[in-house]
Amino acid sequence: MAIQRTFSIIKPDATKRNLTGAINAKIEAAGLRIIAQKRIHMTKAQAGQFYAVHAARPFYDELCEFMASEPVVVQVLEGEDAIATYRGVMGATDPAEAAEGTIRKDFAISKGENSVHGSDAPETAAEEIAYFFAGLELVG
Ligand code: ADP
Ligand code: MG
Repeated sequence: MAIQRTFSIIKPDATKRNLTGAINAKIEAAGLRIIAQKRIHMTKAQAGQFYAVHAARPFYDELCEFMASEPVVVQVLEGEDAIATYRGVMGATDPAEAAEGTIRKDFAISKGENSVHGSDAPETAAEEIAYFFAGLELVG
């Protein structure tokens, strides 16, 4: 597998509880490099555009409210097989189903307030990175 990039968000439930460092420790321990990073506070409309793929789901409005409720940390991660590697570090969407040692097992509150986002495929990773970062912000 080649070196890949993926997009990560440390969600409001985690920034609010001062878990940014603990989450990034797990990311870095997995061999992923944080090559871009910033703390932002999204509007509900910005969160809605980011999660547009879920617009028809019953939890969409609640999800957008949540993502705009507190600051988040958006990051680009780089490394070997980064998309799958990071999904592995994150754990299952529902913390009740997440494996031991994963971010969601250790930190998530619920299926909605689950501490992190990670891209699910190369195409979505590229789109998500471009939504939040200019090329010059990917500093390595
Ligand atoms: P993942 O973040 O693991 O890729 P999805 O893409 O399926 O999961 O969902 C996006 C986000 O929507 C989840 O991380 C979670 O915050 C929220 N979500 C998903 N399913 C539910 C649900 N049943 N109830 C509330 N929120 C949900
Ligand atoms: Mg997803």
